[in-house]
Amino acid sequence: MRTRPAGAARVVAPLALVAAAAAPGSDDRALTAARTPDVQPAAHYYAVRDFPRVEKIDAHVHVYGVAEHFMAQATADNFRILDINVDDADYPPIGEQRRDAVSLRERYPGRVAFVTTFSVESFSSPGWSASVVRDIDEAIAQGAVGVKIWKNIGMALRDADGRYVMPDDARLEPIIAHLERQHVVLLGHQAEPRNCWLPPEKMTVRSDREYFSEHPQYYMYRHPEMPTHESILAARDRMLRAHPVLHFDAVHLASLEWDVGRVADFLDRFPGARVDVAARMVHLEYQAASDPQKVRHFLIRYQDRILYGSDAAYGPGDSDVAALASLHDDWLADWRFLATADLMHSADFAAAFHGLQLPREVIDKIYRRNAQALFPQAWY
Ligand SMILES: [Zn+2]
Repeated sequence: MRTRPAGAARVVAPLALVAAAAAPGSDDRALTAARTPDVQPAAHYYAVRDFPRVEKIDAHVHVYGVAEHFMAQATADNFRILDINVDDADYPPIGEQRRDAVSLRERYPGRVAFVTTFSVESFSSPGWSASVVRDIDEAIAQGAVGVKIWKNIGMALRDADGRYVMPDDARLEPIIAHLERQHVVLLGHQAEPRNCWLPPEKMTVRSDREYFSEHPQYYMYRHPEMPTHESILAARDRMLRAHPVLHFDAVHLASLEWDVGRVADFLDRFPGARVDVAARMVHLEYQAASDPQKVRHFLIRYQDRILYGSDAAYGPGDSDVAALASLHDDWLADWRFLATADLMHSADFAAAFHGLQLPREVIDKIYRRNAQALFPQAWY
């Protein structure tokens, strides 16, 4: 879980600049439309002003406490949310996260759904898998619509002999088989952005350089003795191959964020899988700066399998005015990037880029319908 760093808000140029900046000879529909706005009916695309009007789902947030300010902002911006519990020591204990989520769902009926998770605390003791299955069933009875498996599997949890526990571990197997049988969605955050395995000067975006300098325990470039990016994802993929009908949401662009071609390959290999874009929009923007068509075609081709998510994290102490403003700004910047053809800049890298101006029906799927299809019981 990572949030966009404060101060990474993007500067958006006036629409008039878009026409001048469009590449000559481009056959990209977005750029064509920007050059000759009369060619495409305006009804084909959304504008910035449509943002509060269009019903949206943020399928990846972490919210704790009463969160009434957060929910007021989400309501004002027309978002329903999927609140994801996580097994992370930086956050409250899982039981507390779950109580908060259940309360949120009761207080905001139809607007909040939640995903539970499991602790790996007594992973090696006999009966661990069975007790996790019981606990998951309890959470589902309380309204949970999915289960999250976190990056501690593959990167932190170790056996007594020192070996890292991987996503295809035999002790996880009964849990995943249970979810597969019950048609409960598993949300998988395995590994980290590839930047995590690169030296600072080779990282593509500033927020990764900052995050890994602040979280050296997760900076794999400094830990060559730990599992590689490839080996963690290979174990995840083995687990998925063993569970062909599991409903799987590979959050954070399946940790293949640096190349949409890799994400496409993952989606081709696992036809039942979905991905979300949470905390990885910047990597789409980075790729859009050099090859906008590739990114746009990826989102259009896989329009039924991509979920919008922000990874916004909100605790009781975060409900101040500035934090809420930045929540709104981040949501709106993502909308500009996906829905409009605005010329944009990121605080994360130098190059300017254009919004992708995806057609309305693609925006509606990414922002709402795909989440509703994957979690049919979630929002009502
Ligand atoms: Zn997250």
